[in-house]
Amino acid sequence: MQPASREFVVLGGGVMGLSVARELAQRGVKVTLIEKGSISADTQGAATWASLGVLGASTGGRSPWKRLQSYGYRTYPALAVGLLAETGMDIGYSVRGSLHLKSELPRLGTQVRAERLYREAGLEAKWLASKELSELVPGLFDREDSSFRAAFYIASEAIVHPPSLARALKASCERRGVRLRERSGEARLAGTDEAFVEVAGERIGGVGVVLCAGCWSGLASNSMGYLGVPIRAVRGQAIEVPMDRPSCPNLRFESPSLRREYQIVSKGNGLAWVGSTVEDAGFDPCVTSAGLRELIEAARRVLPDLREKDIVRSWAGLRPQALRPGGPFLGRVPGWKNVWVASGHYRSGILTGPASARLLVQDILGEEILEEETGFDREALAAFRVER
Ligand SMILES: Cc1cc2nc3c(=O)[nH]c(=O)nc-3n(C[C@H](O)[C@H](O)[C@H](O)COP(=O)(O)OP(=O)(O)OC[C@H]3O[C@@H](n4cnc5c(N)ncnc54)[C@H](O)[C@@H]3O)c2cc1C
Repeated sequence: MQPASREFVVLGGGVMGLSVARELAQRGVKVTLIEKGSISADTQGAATWASLGVLGASTGGRSPWKRLQSYGYRTYPALAVGLLAETGMDIGYSVRGSLHLKSELPRLGTQVRAERLYREAGLEAKWLASKELSELVPGLFDREDSSFRAAFYIASEAIVHPPSLARALKASCERRGVRLRERSGEARLAGTDEAFVEVAGERIGGVGVVLCAGCWSGLASNSMGYLGVPIRAVRGQAIEVPMDRPSCPNLRFESPSLRREYQIVSKGNGLAWVGSTVEDAGFDPCVTSAGLRELIEAARRVLPDLREKDIVRSWAGLRPQALRPGGPFLGRVPGWKNVWVASGHYRSGILTGPASARLLVQDILGEEILEEETGFDREALAAFRVER
């Protein structure tokens, strides 16, 4: 098979589908992207539009998933510049830094080890005691009753605006000649051995297919029932609240009663996003009153005066979680010659989606993968196989 000479159909118009379609089209491949909803903020449940857009500065290391996060982080500056040049659209990329808030400084040995890990990865990070924390973010942590008296400051953490990213990827796909079929209804795979795509009563055969259907990726099959791509939906709710600290770093903290990490991401316009819940709610993308209460309770650890009535906006999305350890699925779907999957990025799909797309497309088309640039050679990508 000569994939480069074939036509490809990409199923799903989230960050994964748009990134895969863009990478294929850049290499002169003819691509159709099929999205059951619309490629816009109102796509029901799609994770991309619900994301907080935090780009964690990963220290990399030996685990393939950590290395993918590190590669994802490193690709963003060029992606932001490239999309701006190509489409004129700003994806809101900015290096904000993050404060991992703590009740007190850990032991000296722990401090030194954590700082060294980041330094060795070329990232700037340091512990802040109460006084330095108050100087960096005046007024938030100098109250008597503040739960937080120390923080680990990672200067390199970045953010992006996910809706702007998706719109810019879409515009780039259009410029590169990708045929976009939105509001298509659900596309399905059928056939044996060599799959074809069924959508709105039409059959599309003789193509390579890349399944980027997020948490729905395991369902996208007619003839074979369960597709054999074990992915589940994990609902995340988030809220927008007033916060007048435009240059505040991303705030990350745990809630002892809820035993989970939450984030407050200042948007620089008098508002901040607070996220997120982690819920097993099947494929239900609804916002719930319990979810809103949970987020307000968590956020009040930092913003004690916040009340439910202050919520400006709320939303929910379904994260695709690969049900095998080790990160997302990137590779051929077992049992079919012409079907690949790029899905299951769970809580880091904005960070790792564009980098994953590049690696998968290079693998599909048999291109050289530069280990010094990506951290991967072809064999190392096997860590993300469905049958791992
Ligand atoms: C509240 C929340 C906060 C998050 N915060 C972050 C963060 O800060 N940083 C980060 O990196 N990640 C974050 N994530 C995770 C990130 O958003 C996801 O990992 C990523 O968006 C997944 O992208 P995707 O394209 O695989 O899936 P999706 O965005 O869900 O896209 C899948 C698309 O496929 C379409 N589709 C499904 N089935 C079919 C079919 N049969 N035919 C045609 N189309 C179909 C769907 O309509 C959908 O548009 C967050 C997620 C949530 C919910």
